[in-house]
Amino acid sequence: MKVYKFGGASVKDAEGIRNLTKIVSGETDKLVIVVSAFGKTTNALEKVLKAWLPGESDYAVLLDEVYNQHLSVIADLFGSGTEEKGEIDISFAILRDYLLTSLKGEYDFEYDQIVSFGEIWSTIIVSEYLKKHFNSVSWCDIRENLITDDRYRDANVLWSESTKRIQRIFDFTRERIYVTQGFIGGTAAGHTTTLGREGSDYTAAILANILDAECVVVWKDVPGILNADPKWFPEALKLDEISYKEAVEMSFSGAKVIHPKTIKPLHNKNIPMYVRSFLDPEKNGTVIKVDATLRKVVPVFIIKESQILISILPKDFSFVMGDNLSRIFHSFITHGIKVNLVEASAVSIDVCVDDERSKVDVLISDLKTEFTAVYNDKIEMLTIRHYTSDAIALMTKGREILLEQKTRSTVRFVVRQE
Ligand code: ASP
Ligand code: MG
Repeated sequence: MKVYKFGGASVKDAEGIRNLTKIVSGETDKLVIVVSAFGKTTNALEKVLKAWLPGESDYAVLLDEVYNQHLSVIADLFGSGTEEKGEIDISFAILRDYLLTSLKGEYDFEYDQIVSFGEIWSTIIVSEYLKKHFNSVSWCDIRENLITDDRYRDANVLWSESTKRIQRIFDFTRERIYVTQGFIGGTAAGHTTTLGREGSDYTAAILANILDAECVVVWKDVPGILNADPKWFPEALKLDEISYKEAVEMSFSGAKVIHPKTIKPLHNKNIPMYVRSFLDPEKNGTVIKVDATLRKVVPVFIIKESQILISILPKDFSFVMGDNLSRIFHSFITHGIKVNLVEASAVSIDVCVDDERSKVDVLISDLKTEFTAVYNDKIEMLTIRHYTSDAIALMTKGREILLEQKTRSTVRFVVRQE
C-alpha cells in the first residue's frame, strides 16, 4: 500500500478535487489518502479563534465565510441540496455549538479544538467525491486513532497506542482507499490535538511507518524539491533525489517543502518519499530515500525568516559551557522554544529561535536572576548546504551579518531582515 498526501493548495477548490481524483485514478494499489484543510482554511480558522477567544462577536461572520467557501465547493462538485451539504452542515453546527456554549480554555487547547475542523470538512468532501468514482472508499477519523499526548498545538505521538489503533482501523479487508485528516490527532481522553502547522506531511509519514507503506507521495504545487525558493532565486533547480539526511537538514534549516518531523518515521522504516507536482502529475519530482546522491552537487539555499537572536551571559562571569548550559537549555525546553542555531563563547551564548515573542519573554524572565539575556528581533537565518564562495557571495550580498557558522558541508549566517 501507498500513502498519498494532498496539501491545502491541491484542494483549494472544486477543480483541485477533480484533479486529485484524476491522480488517484492512476493508482491501482491500496491507498491511504491524507488531506489537509482546503486552501487557506487553517489561517481563516485561526482568525475565528482569535476573534472568539476575547469575545468579539464577529467571529461568527468569519466562520460564515469559511462555511460559504465549503458550500460553494460542494455545489460545484455535487449540485445543490445534496446529502453532502447535509454532512457539512452537521459538522459546522457542532463547531458553532461549541463556540456558543463552551467555557473558554487556554489558547493552545482551544486552537486544537477549533482549527482542526478544517481537516474534518476537507476530508468529508474529498471522500464523498471519491466515493462517486471508486468502489470501497472509506472516511476515517484520525482523532480516534492517531493518539498523542496533550501538548496542544505541538502534540507528541504516542506510538504504541497509535500503532494498535491504526493497524486495526486501516486493515484494507473491505476497502481499497481510505481518506483521512492530516495535521490532527487526539488524546486518549478524547480531546483533539494538532501536530504543528503544516503537519500533514508528518501524518503521512506516521501512517506510512505504522502500516509499512511501500512509499509516500506528497503532491505539491512545485515540481519537486528545489535547491532554493524560486521566490528569491528564480533560477532554482529541481533536485532529482536527496537523502533523508539532506532532507532533514534542509527542512530544519527552514526549507518549507516538508515538515521537519516527517523524515524520521520514514527513515526508521526505509520508506521512500516522492515529492511530485499535482499540476504536472506525469513528471517524476524528487525522491527522498536512503541511498540518494545529489548527482551534481549544487548549493542549496535556505532562508528562515522571522527569527530572534538571543544573547545570554551568566551574571557572575562564569563559563557558559559548564552547568550553565544545561540550566539554559532546560529553560528553552520547558517553555517550548525550538532552537535553530547555537553559538557559544567563553562567557556568552547566542541562540537563534523563531519569533514567538511571548515565549521568549517568559524565557528571559525565567533566566533573569542568574543571566543577562537580551535579544535582537527582525532577524533571518540563511543556510547554504554544499556552499561555494560564489554561493556565499550571492546570498550575503548587501546583508549585515551578525553571526556566521561554518562546517564542511554547511554555512549559516544570522543577518538582519531586509
Ligand atoms: N492545514 C494545516 C496547515 O495549514 C496542516 C497542513 O496543511 O499540513 O498548517
Ligand atoms: Mg495547509
